[in-house]
Amino acid sequence: MWNFLKSLITYNERLKDLQAREERYRLITSVMSDYAFVLYFDEQGKIREGWIDGAFEQITSYSREEFLNGDVWSIMLHPDDVERDAEDNRLLAQNQKVYNELRIIRKDGKIRWVGGYVYPIWDEQHNRLAGIYGATRDITEQKQAELLSMQSTNEMTLLYKISLALSSGQDLYQELRAFVRELKKVMVVDAFHIGFYDEEKDLFNYSLFLNDNEDLKLPPRSLKKSLGLTWEVLSKKQTLYLPNIDDPQTQKEHNIVIVVDAGMRSYIGIPLISQDKAIGVMSVQAKEVDAYHAEQIRLLETIAAQVVITSEKSRLLEQLQQELIERKNLLHEMEVKNAELERFSYTVSHDLKTPLVTIRGFLGLMSKSVLSGDIEAFQRDMARVVKATDRMNQLLKDLLELSRIGRVLNEKKNISFGSLVSAAVEIVHGRIQEKNISIYVQENLPIVFVDQPRMIEVLQNLVDNAAKYMGEQKDPKIEIGFEGEQNGEYTFFVRDNGIGIAPEHHERIFGLFNKLDAESEGTGVGLALVKRIVEFHGGRIWVKSEAGLGSTFYFTLPVNPSA
Ligand code: ADP
Repeated sequence: MWNFLKSLITYNERLKDLQAREERYRLITSVMSDYAFVLYFDEQGKIREGWIDGAFEQITSYSREEFLNGDVWSIMLHPDDVERDAEDNRLLAQNQKVYNELRIIRKDGKIRWVGGYVYPIWDEQHNRLAGIYGATRDITEQKQAELLSMQSTNEMTLLYKISLALSSGQDLYQELRAFVRELKKVMVVDAFHIGFYDEEKDLFNYSLFLNDNEDLKLPPRSLKKSLGLTWEVLSKKQTLYLPNIDDPQTQKEHNIVIVVDAGMRSYIGIPLISQDKAIGVMSVQAKEVDAYHAEQIRLLETIAAQVVITSEKSRLLEQLQQELIERKNLLHEMEVKNAELERFSYTVSHDLKTPLVTIRGFLGLMSKSVLSGDIEAFQRDMARVVKATDRMNQLLKDLLELSRIGRVLNEKKNISFGSLVSAAVEIVHGRIQEKNISIYVQENLPIVFVDQPRMIEVLQNLVDNAAKYMGEQKDPKIEIGFEGEQNGEYTFFVRDNGIGIAPEHHERIFGLFNKLDAESEGTGVGLALVKRIVEFHGGRIWVKSEAGLGSTFYFTLPVNPSA
């Protein structure tokens, strides 16, 4: 009896101890984020009995009873991981432990990653797998982080390759082609179009238009004439993703203009934005419906920014090259001007020297005449000296005048061209009367915006020349008028029926000191002066003439540029 009581007490104590331990274990496993399991299989490999504890229900959404009593595993296991699970089972059946990572599908359809070690329980007697045990944990977050980091590594690699492709050369077109090749490695690209918009001309210029690898050279097209998706992306400055452009609802909500039909369904349009302005559109398309996910679109947006930088770079380069050409042209122009200046100073010193040499020569002769008392010869030579000094004086006056153009400015004003003609004719009326020349001035001449004294100088020179080079004309006539307005310019003319100018001299006469007849009066500065003044007003001057048939000098003036 005593013994029985003693063993009862011991039993009770052991039971209490066991219960306490079990309670402790229950408490621990209840707060565990993992679950542990022991499963025993029958000979068919079905679960005979088992024990699961921990966060099983939270992780899988199935209760332990459901799991132990039914064939839930085959329902839970993600179809893509069936093969991996079979491989694990093969190893366990060879008495090897495994580390598995699998996806399970919860009752609510959510997918979770679970992972952990699974150990075999080996039946030595029958040499078979009697069961398994192990601990499993929810590794979904870890897996997602891994996936994300893998994705961003892939993205980084792609971006790196693309930036290499985009910055390797200087030809945007070649760079874009290389870029599309890279892009195809990470997503479906059945069509790739990229273009830049010229807002002023309303022209969309394609840099690249690839459909099914076929590189189509499309001419620039107007966007405003048929407002399509490109226009929508450009004007909204927002990425547009249409999973199916054939969908009637999509067609109702968007205006879809198909430029070249290649059976595309998925459409992504991304604006190319530079300094807050949409300058172009990049579009990636696929024949399958809904070919792209958010991450890919985000990646394309990053790439679009890269494309903008590259295109800006090429544009700047082009601008730089353009400026270089302009600079070269300017340099050339300066060289030409320099040469002209050199010629000019040579001619000036030469022309000024001629009368001086004359004067010096005649002074010698004059002193001899004085000594010999030859007053007649003295007076004749004296007249030559006076003529030479006059000529020098005229030359210096003309030169001074020429140098003042562009330096000394009178304020331009609106004035009737007719009044300028009257003033000029008045100045040269001596020669006109002397040669008995009839002057015809067209009526209703327009108002011009000019430096008045200078413009009178132009007309005075042209009319004076017309009179001067009249020759033996019996019915001398000078006609002044205007031919009308074209491209914002008036064309005026001064026509004579004098000796005319052979075509080979038409350019030369506007040069400095260029006289066709060395014996003629005048310095050869007049037309150079006229040309300078006309050009200074933004106009051009030329002559139409043939020897013996009179000359017509034309010049243009801008239609009131101040207005
Ligand atoms: P110049 O002082 O010699 O008149 P210009 O520069 O005015 O100098 O003219 C240059 C040359 O062009 C003149 O020497 C003359 O040979 C020729 N020329 C100018 N105007 C006429 C004209 N209306 N008819 C014929 N020849 C002209």
